[in-house]
Amino acid sequence: MAEFHKADIEKLIDGVLPWPATQDMLKSAKDTNRFDKYLEIMQERVEFDEPILLPLTPMLFIVAKGGERVVQCRCGQDFGDYHVNWKLSALIHVRDDEESMSEVYKGREMPDPNWIQLREYICGGCGSQLEVEAVPRGCPPDFDFLPDLDTFYREWLGRPLPDEAEFVDRTLERIGEWSR
Ligand SMILES: [Zn+2]
Repeated sequence: MAEFHKADIEKLIDGVLPWPATQDMLKSAKDTNRFDKYLEIMQERVEFDEPILLPLTPMLFIVAKGGERVVQCRCGQDFGDYHVNWKLSALIHVRDDEESMSEVYKGREMPDPNWIQLREYICGGCGSQLEVEAVPRGCPPDFDFLPDLDTFYREWLGRPLPDEAEFVDRTLERIGEWSR
Protein backbone atom coordinates (compact mmCIF):
# COMPACT_ATOMS: atom_id res chain seq x y z
CA MET A 1 0.00 0.00 0.00
CA ALA A 2 1.31 3.43 -0.91
CA GLU A 3 2.40 5.48 2.04
CA PHE A 4 0.60 8.80 2.25
CA HIS A 5 3.10 11.54 2.89
CA LYS A 6 2.24 14.27 5.31
CA ALA A 7 2.71 16.94 2.61
CA ASP A 8 0.26 15.15 0.30
CA ILE A 9 -2.29 14.97 3.06
CA GLU A 10 -1.74 18.64 3.77
CA LYS A 11 -2.54 19.42 0.12
CA LEU A 12 -5.62 17.26 0.26
CA ILE A 13 -6.84 19.16 3.31
CA ASP A 14 -6.28 22.51 1.64
CA GLY A 15 -8.11 21.43 -1.49
CA VAL A 16 -11.33 20.15 0.02
CA LEU A 17 -13.43 20.32 3.14
CA PRO A 18 -12.16 18.22 6.04
CA TRP A 19 -14.98 15.64 6.18
CA PRO A 20 -14.87 14.66 2.48
CA ALA A 21 -11.07 14.63 2.75
CA THR A 22 -11.28 12.28 5.71
CA GLN A 23 -13.63 9.93 3.90
CA ASP A 24 -11.44 10.00 0.84
CA MET A 25 -8.37 9.11 2.88
CA LEU A 26 -10.07 6.27 4.65
CA LYS A 27 -12.28 4.59 2.08
CA SER A 28 -9.57 2.81 0.12
CA ALA A 29 -7.93 0.95 2.96
CA LYS A 30 -7.82 0.65 6.69
CA ASP A 31 -4.90 2.99 6.94
CA THR A 32 -5.55 4.84 10.15
CA ASN A 33 -2.06 6.25 9.92
CA ARG A 34 -3.30 8.67 7.27
CA PHE A 35 -6.02 9.93 9.58
CA ASP A 36 -3.49 10.33 12.37
CA LYS A 37 -1.20 12.40 10.15
CA TYR A 38 -4.19 14.46 9.13
CA LEU A 39 -5.03 15.16 12.77
CA GLU A 40 -1.39 15.97 13.44
CA ILE A 41 -1.42 18.61 10.68
CA MET A 42 -4.64 20.17 11.94
CA GLN A 43 -3.36 20.14 15.52
CA GLU A 44 -0.32 22.15 14.40
CA ARG A 45 -2.61 24.73 12.79
CA VAL A 46 -4.86 25.48 15.74
CA GLU A 47 -4.19 27.78 18.66
CA PHE A 48 -5.30 25.38 21.42
CA ASP A 49 -3.78 22.30 23.06
CA GLU A 50 -6.87 20.11 23.55
CA PRO A 51 -6.56 17.01 21.34
CA ILE A 52 -8.66 17.16 18.15
CA LEU A 53 -11.01 14.20 17.73
CA LEU A 54 -12.42 15.28 14.37
CA PRO A 55 -12.26 18.41 12.21
CA LEU A 56 -15.75 19.65 11.27
CA THR A 57 -14.75 22.51 8.97
CA PRO A 58 -11.42 24.25 8.28
CA MET A 59 -12.20 26.42 11.34
CA LEU A 60 -14.11 24.13 13.73
CA PHE A 61 -13.03 21.01 15.54
CA ILE A 62 -14.48 18.47 17.93
CA VAL A 63 -11.95 18.21 20.77
CA ALA A 64 -11.57 16.24 23.99
CA LYS A 65 -11.73 18.73 26.83
CA GLY A 66 -11.93 17.86 30.53
CA GLY A 67 -13.86 14.62 29.93
CA GLU A 68 -16.27 16.34 27.49
CA ARG A 69 -16.39 16.46 23.72
CA VAL A 70 -16.84 20.03 22.64
CA VAL A 71 -16.66 22.07 19.45
CA GLN A 72 -13.86 24.62 19.35
CA CYS A 73 -12.86 27.27 16.88
CA ARG A 74 -9.30 27.27 15.63
CA CYS A 75 -8.70 30.20 18.04
CA GLY A 76 -9.82 28.14 21.05
CA GLN A 77 -13.32 29.62 21.45
CA ASP A 78 -15.54 26.95 23.02
CA PHE A 79 -18.95 26.25 21.39
CA GLY A 80 -19.97 23.57 23.89
CA ASP A 81 -21.17 19.96 23.63
CA TYR A 82 -20.77 18.69 20.07
CA HIS A 83 -24.22 17.06 20.20
CA VAL A 84 -25.71 20.57 20.13
CA ASN A 85 -25.57 22.61 16.93
CA TRP A 86 -22.57 24.92 17.45
CA LYS A 87 -24.42 27.69 15.61
CA LEU A 88 -26.51 28.27 18.76
CA SER A 89 -23.32 29.54 20.46
CA ALA A 90 -22.09 31.69 17.58
CA LEU A 91 -22.67 35.37 16.91
CA ILE A 92 -25.19 35.68 14.09
CA HIS A 93 -25.41 38.47 11.56
CA VAL A 94 -28.66 38.34 9.60
CA ARG A 95 -29.26 39.98 6.22
CA ASP A 96 -32.98 40.06 5.56
CA ASP A 97 -33.65 43.14 3.46
CA GLU A 98 -32.74 44.26 -0.02
CA GLU A 99 -30.15 46.76 1.15
CA SER A 100 -28.09 44.35 3.25
CA MET A 101 -28.45 41.48 0.77
CA SER A 102 -27.35 43.64 -2.14
CA GLU A 103 -23.92 43.88 -0.46
CA VAL A 104 -23.55 40.17 -1.14
CA TYR A 105 -25.69 39.41 -4.18
CA LYS A 106 -25.72 41.13 -7.55
CA GLY A 107 -28.93 41.83 -9.48
CA ARG A 108 -31.12 38.88 -10.24
CA GLU A 109 -28.97 36.50 -8.21
CA MET A 110 -30.43 37.99 -5.07
CA PRO A 111 -33.00 35.79 -3.33
CA ASP A 112 -36.32 37.41 -2.40
CA PRO A 113 -35.79 38.90 1.07
CA ASN A 114 -39.48 38.37 1.80
CA TRP A 115 -38.77 34.65 1.86
CA ILE A 116 -35.08 34.11 2.35
CA GLN A 117 -32.61 35.41 4.90
CA LEU A 118 -28.87 35.17 4.91
CA ARG A 119 -27.27 34.21 8.23
CA GLU A 120 -23.59 34.70 8.85
CA TYR A 121 -22.22 32.76 11.81
CA ILE A 122 -19.28 34.49 13.46
CA CYS A 123 -16.84 33.29 16.12
CA GLY A 124 -17.14 35.35 19.31
CA GLY A 125 -13.46 34.72 20.03
CA CYS A 126 -11.62 35.71 16.85
CA GLY A 127 -14.36 37.27 14.71
CA SER A 128 -13.90 34.80 11.87
CA GLN A 129 -16.87 34.02 9.68
CA LEU A 130 -17.49 30.34 10.33
CA GLU A 131 -20.37 29.71 7.99
CA VAL A 132 -23.07 31.34 5.90
CA GLU A 133 -26.49 29.92 5.18
CA ALA A 134 -29.33 31.17 3.00
CA VAL A 135 -32.53 29.77 4.45
CA PRO A 136 -36.27 30.51 4.49
CA ARG A 137 -37.22 32.98 7.23
CA GLY A 138 -37.98 31.27 10.53
CA CYS A 139 -36.15 28.09 9.55
CA PRO A 140 -33.99 26.76 12.42
CA PRO A 141 -30.20 26.82 11.93
CA ASP A 142 -29.13 23.99 9.69
CA PHE A 143 -27.19 21.34 11.66
CA ASP A 144 -24.74 20.54 8.88
CA PHE A 145 -22.94 17.63 10.33
CA LEU A 146 -23.40 15.67 13.55
CA PRO A 147 -20.85 12.89 13.24
CA ASP A 148 -21.24 9.60 15.05
CA LEU A 149 -17.81 9.87 16.67
CA ASP A 150 -17.95 6.56 18.53
CA THR A 151 -18.88 4.54 15.47
CA PHE A 152 -16.20 6.33 13.49
CA TYR A 153 -13.46 5.56 16.01
CA ARG A 154 -14.68 2.02 16.76
CA GLU A 155 -15.58 0.79 13.26
CA TRP A 156 -13.35 2.84 10.98
CA LEU A 157 -10.27 3.42 13.07
CA GLY A 158 -10.53 0.26 15.17
CA ARG A 159 -9.82 2.10 18.41
CA PRO A 160 -12.94 2.99 20.38
CA LEU A 161 -12.82 6.23 22.32
CA PRO A 162 -12.47 5.69 26.08
CA ASP A 163 -15.68 7.60 26.83
CA GLU A 164 -18.19 5.96 24.46
CA ALA A 165 -21.64 7.46 24.87
CA GLU A 166 -25.12 7.40 23.37
CA PHE A 167 -25.40 9.15 20.01
CA VAL A 168 -28.04 11.87 20.14
CA ASP A 169 -28.75 15.34 18.76
CA ARG A 170 -29.26 17.54 21.83
CA THR A 171 -30.00 20.78 19.95
CA LEU A 172 -33.72 20.83 20.75
CA GLU A 173 -33.01 20.06 24.41
CA ARG A 174 -30.76 23.12 24.55
CA ILE A 175 -33.35 25.35 22.86
CA GLY A 176 -35.97 23.97 25.30
CA GLU A 177 -33.78 25.07 28.24
CA TRP A 178 -33.90 28.64 26.96
CA SER A 179 -37.68 28.81 27.26
CA ARG A 180 -37.79 27.57 30.86
ZN1 LIG B 1 -12.49 31.81 16.68
